[in-house]
Amino acid sequence: MFQFTEEQKMVRQMVRRWTTNSLEPKVSAIEEGEPPYELMREFAKTFGIPDMVVGMFEKLEKRAAEKQAGGDGGGGGDAKQPSPGIGGPDPALSAIVSLELTRVCPGFMLAFGASMGLAGGAIMGKGTLEQKRRWALPIMTWDKIGGWGMTEPASGSDAFRSMRTVAVPRGDGYVLNGQKTFITNAPYADILVVYAKIDHGDGTPLSERPIEAFVVERGDAGVDTPPPMKKMGMHASPTGEIFLQDCYLPADRLLGMKEKSQGRASGKGVFHSERTGMAPMACGIIERCLELSLAYAKEREAWGRPIADYQLVQDKLARMYMHLQNAQNAMFKQLWMEKQGMTMTDAEASATKLYCARAATECAMEAVQLFGGNGYMQEYRVEMLARDAKLLQIGGGTDEIQALNIARNLLSDEDDGRL
Ligand SMILES: Cc1cc2nc3c(=O)[nH]c(=O)nc-3n(C[C@H](O)[C@H](O)[C@H](O)COP(=O)(O)OP(=O)(O)OC[C@H]3O[C@@H](n4cnc5c(N)ncnc54)[C@H](O)[C@@H]3O)c2cc1C
Repeated sequence: MFQFTEEQKMVRQMVRRWTTNSLEPKVSAIEEGEPPYELMREFAKTFGIPDMVVGMFEKLEKRAAEKQAGGDGGGGGDAKQPSPGIGGPDPALSAIVSLELTRVCPGFMLAFGASMGLAGGAIMGKGTLEQKRRWALPIMTWDKIGGWGMTEPASGSDAFRSMRTVAVPRGDGYVLNGQKTFITNAPYADILVVYAKIDHGDGTPLSERPIEAFVVERGDAGVDTPPPMKKMGMHASPTGEIFLQDCYLPADRLLGMKEKSQGRASGKGVFHSERTGMAPMACGIIERCLELSLAYAKEREAWGRPIADYQLVQDKLARMYMHLQNAQNAMFKQLWMEKQGMTMTDAEASATKLYCARAATECAMEAVQLFGGNGYMQEYRVEMLARDAKLLQIGGGTDEIQALNIARNLLSDEDDGRL
């Protein structure tokens, strides 16, 4: 697969129409702090996402009932069960949604994806059928907003080993204490997936304790989510902290309902999808920067000629086009693999993210340069795209962590046909 099908292109046009008519006019307001969620609900409704998700859930429940009737219990957490992605069962549609929303407002896409993809995806991946019905379904239908809480003030890149949030078994449930930070949607989320280390009081050092994922609901006693943090970019995506103080959660909040040290696997699964999912966002940023830059270069004159006539400006346009080609190839490779039921290796996923994030940031910064003083002004979109692009090199694992991942895989003795 190296391009979208005719049908997918039509969907793309429809999404483009919505972003032009409904998202673009609201970008300034949401960049300035208006919560983006009503607009997300409108988007989801316009494209029939809630109905589609309900349909997929009905099938999921039917399959689970058949499985149970067959005598194997059914209904447990199963990462292989299909998760309704943000564009439904066709991964290309999810990519189109991501690409098109990002073109107009990367922050809007970040918050949209964190709710449906990260929080919804984590519950779909490791939750029991009942947990999926109770928490993933309302997130996927946009009745509720989700957030995914892994990062802490002292544990980002070193997410698992340095994690300090602790869950102590008490009675039928757990008492959680700790703090999460930089969590997308935290200030507004109704449902939060939070990772914590289990403390059985057996003296296991903190760094080695098993990690589990829990569902925290807004309104649970002992949970505080302060107002959004102020940040460099992605202003349309509210980012915040989660404070957990003696927060008691009943047993049914443990994802999977059984302690199985699922937290690391769940976290790794989410990181993997964040990494491969970066390609459409990068394509959105690069494509928009290139379009805006082409138009500006033809229109803006210096020394009596359009700046497009100057070869140093042409080099910027050519490099943006080169990066777009490569990011698109990465995206289509990933979509093709998903369609074949194949999964990218960790090295492939990290290489995809590393390349795409750097390319998007380079293109957006070069677009600012090409626009000169205007590029530095908020009135011109390249300013927002440059601030937003930088996050791609940090969120979901920094560039350095992707490079380390690639090297670790290449240097390991396992032969997974990676070269
Ligand atoms: C806008 C935004 C939204 C986010 N949303 C979420 C979210 O929804 N949920 C969530 O859980 N997290 C979220 N994050 C957190 C994000 O995943 C982390 O910020 C990221 O993983 C980096 O962790 P850190 O900030 O602690 O940096 P650190 O780990 O402190 O890294 C600092 C620097 O050291 C480098 N470094 C670290 N270790 C090594 C090493 N071994 N070798 C070389 N260099 C190294 C890093 O690459 C980086 O340059 C978000 C962050 C931002 C900014």
